[in-house]
Amino acid sequence: MKNKLHIVITGERETTRSYVISKTALITLVFSSLSLVILLAAFSFLGLKDTCQTIQLRASHDRLVKQIAEKEAEYQSILDDLKVKADEREKLLSTALSELKNRSEIVESILKTVGIKTSIKESTKHSGGPFTPLSEDSYEDIIFRLDHSLDIIKSVPLGPPVLGTITSLYGRRIDPINKKAAFHSGIDIRKKIGAEITTTADGKVLKKGYNKGQGNYVVIGHGKDFKTRYFHMKKSFVEKGDLVKRGQVIGLVGNTGRSTGPHLHYEIHYNQKSVNPLKFVRVARNMPSVIK
Ligand SMILES: [Zn+2]
Repeated sequence: MKNKLHIVITGERETTRSYVISKTALITLVFSSLSLVILLAAFSFLGLKDTCQTIQLRASHDRLVKQIAEKEAEYQSILDDLKVKADEREKLLSTALSELKNRSEIVESILKTVGIKTSIKESTKHSGGPFTPLSEDSYEDIIFRLDHSLDIIKSVPLGPPVLGTITSLYGRRIDPINKKAAFHSGIDIRKKIGAEITTTADGKVLKKGYNKGQGNYVVIGHGKDFKTRYFHMKKSFVEKGDLVKRGQVIGLVGNTGRSTGPHLHYEIHYNQKSVNPLKFVRVARNMPSVIK
């Protein structure tokens, strides 16, 4: 009976009930109940902790989503700005290209009018690699064509050497002095004595001198194909070997040599033969900005 415990329960109507339980069983029951309570408390605590963490994570997530949305809007605005700028650049480039193309066509038309071929032949030496055709309007193509044409045009005598009245044309005519049929290898431009004579293309002075027929004269070479000759000058300002630029004053109108009055006799030679200067003088009349 030592390890047993007696539990006596007395009722209101003097009924009595008694229970016998061993001490070991009671201790086991108490410990089991306590363990259960502790476990439940632990689970409740862990559950609460998880809930708190979930709430915190959800708040962080919402904050991040908001920040990302703000950044996205910012980047979109930057991208939009860049696109506008790119569009503007594209527009400017397109205008510039169209202007270049226009100029290139003017230059080519000048050359065509005076009978100069501008066919673009690129050297096939020292080249190779994949074939990349140039599109009609590509930037490189337009620049290449313009460069090529401008290169040629530098050495083409264009425009009048002096602004005056053309009194005698190129070709067959009756000589004004001996009245016999003759060939006039240039044009005569009437202008008062002392008016400035300008050279009509970049070049180099090949000759300068005086003779009874031509009076004071200057001959200028332009590139490998062209020469211009200026006769009856009052005086010249250049020497043999001088490099000259288009529009440079090379002398003054005079009445020297075989001449019936103040004028400039102007000749153009192409590949050692005289050609009619008239179309060269007139072709650039409306396009000074291109050839200057
Ligand atoms: Zn003449």
